[in-house]
Amino acid sequence: MIADLAEQLRDREQQSLLRRRQLLESPQAGRITVDGCDYLAFCSNDYLGLANHPQLIEAACEGVRRYGVGAGASHLISGHSVAHHELEQALAAFSGFPQALLFSTGYMANIGVVTALTGRADAVFADKLNHASLNDAALLSRAAFIRYPHLDLRVLEQHLASTGARRKLVISDTVFSMEGDIAPISQLIELCRRYDAWLLLDDAHGFGVMGEHGRGSLFLSDAIARVPNLIYMATLGKAAGVFGAFVAAQPDVIETLIQSARSYIYTTATPPLLAHTLLTSLKLIEREAWRREALEGSIVQLKQGLRALPWRLLPSCTPIQPLLIGDSVETVRISRCLRERGILVPAIRPPTVPQGAARLRISLSAVHTSDDVQCLVDVLNDLADA
Ligand SMILES: *Cc1c(COP(=O)(O)O)cnc(C)c1O
Repeated sequence: MIADLAEQLRDREQQSLLRRRQLLESPQAGRITVDGCDYLAFCSNDYLGLANHPQLIEAACEGVRRYGVGAGASHLISGHSVAHHELEQALAAFSGFPQALLFSTGYMANIGVVTALTGRADAVFADKLNHASLNDAALLSRAAFIRYPHLDLRVLEQHLASTGARRKLVISDTVFSMEGDIAPISQLIELCRRYDAWLLLDDAHGFGVMGEHGRGSLFLSDAIARVPNLIYMATLGKAAGVFGAFVAAQPDVIETLIQSARSYIYTTATPPLLAHTLLTSLKLIEREAWRREALEGSIVQLKQGLRALPWRLLPSCTPIQPLLIGDSVETVRISRCLRERGILVPAIRPPTVPQGAARLRISLSAVHTSDDVQCLVDVLNDLADA
């Protein structure tokens, strides 16, 4: 049996698909220490640079003094702290929904929502490039699982029009994690309204970054949060800089999740100190608009600087700027060359992205200076000329 696993692993290695973990020795930041060396890093989801913010460190210390370290129980037993409750209210207000519910992670939130709302007689419709957690959730729900081509709402509409399912749930990333592009949110909402379908939007990469005051991708278009069939999910370990996730929706949806979302019920609540810290994080997201402006400047600078490359940046106006290389081996090679020059950009390979679409996933953060971005631009241009 072990020999069987070893052979599989060797195959992976030969195809340049073996994943390796690096040891991070510093806090998450624009410059990080990995395996003993210092790097300029374009690989985190800490888009606003809050993960190591002094005010959040201070809030975490205050939280630990007030609530201790562990939650000690699940939310439905005795682990639901006033800190969790206060954060849920703040998140609902911030995202424009009547109610919100905290989950330990975004992965668990997606599993919880989809399995609580759908079962055997139902159908889940999903964008082909959705995050893995949404796909896993759909499979676990036992509903029919129908995937439509990326952003293709005509195909989605055909499926919605022809399904005989009892309950219909459409699920989509808002900002796609490996593409950086954005779903047509208003059209999705309108389509789901017309076909009487639920809509779950995963804003893991939009929350804190997109929309007015960083309130998320829903705020890119007209206020639509009041549409009753809309369920919003966002994570708190990316731009918000801490950990966790929440679902925001109408009160009956939230109550249903409390009653039957298994990934909410059968797990220990996250440490209340994190909820306490996130209250400060929300304030920083709202107040420090300069972070989003800095990001925007870096995005423009990167796009201009990489125009002459033989590789193409995918069309994206978000901090996720993927540089499409194609071949996995070549992508890993370029990522390694960047690393040798002191810059970390991860190579993303199948199965995370489709075959032949390996890429460098450049992610920008508000903590990058224009010198940092210029350094990446110069080295990539050098590598292309070599
Ligand atoms: C990161 C991510 C998740 C998972 O969130 P975690 O809190 O890290 O578990 C879910 N959906 C998308 C689109 C993500 O990028």
